Amino acid sequence: MLFIAAAVHWFEQQQQIIFNQGRLLTADEQQLAALVGVANPERVYVYEVASIKRPEEPELASLCEQFGFLTEDTIGLTLGYGIYIKQGYLTTRLLSHELRHVYQYEQAGSTEAFLTRYIGEIMQFGYFNAPYEIDARAHEKDSML
Ligand SMILES: [Zn+2]
Repeated sequence: MLFIAAAVHWFEQQQQIIFNQGRLLTADEQQLAALVGVANPERVYVYEVASIKRPEEPELASLCEQFGFLTEDTIGLTLGYGIYIKQGYLTTRLLSHELRHVYQYEQAGSTEAFLTRYIGEIMQFGYFNAPYEIDARAHEKDSML
């Protein structure tokens, strides 16, 4: 599965952009992160962008196309400790969902381990029914309480 290496490269590149151009979580957002299980809320960055783009690398782009991953409707994407949010869509519900992906990344232990599992789940179950997505939806919160 050579595309895993390409996916790792893209993931880490995007994460670095978020580290460079995003912001750290507010105190309230760090509390929300802890609530959904994130071990290191102080390491998480959020970057609000006009649109969340698919990878340009052809094999990754065609996988996205095939599995309906990263469409015009995508409003959040988590890359390790970096979270992209589409401008105008930052809510407690969306952030809690994305923060649960941060938790999953921490538990996986590495970018490669996280992506191997996540991509495998999407290929086997589809995006909506991937266990990582079901888990993230199960941890969505409507308020900080
Ligand atoms: Zn998700």
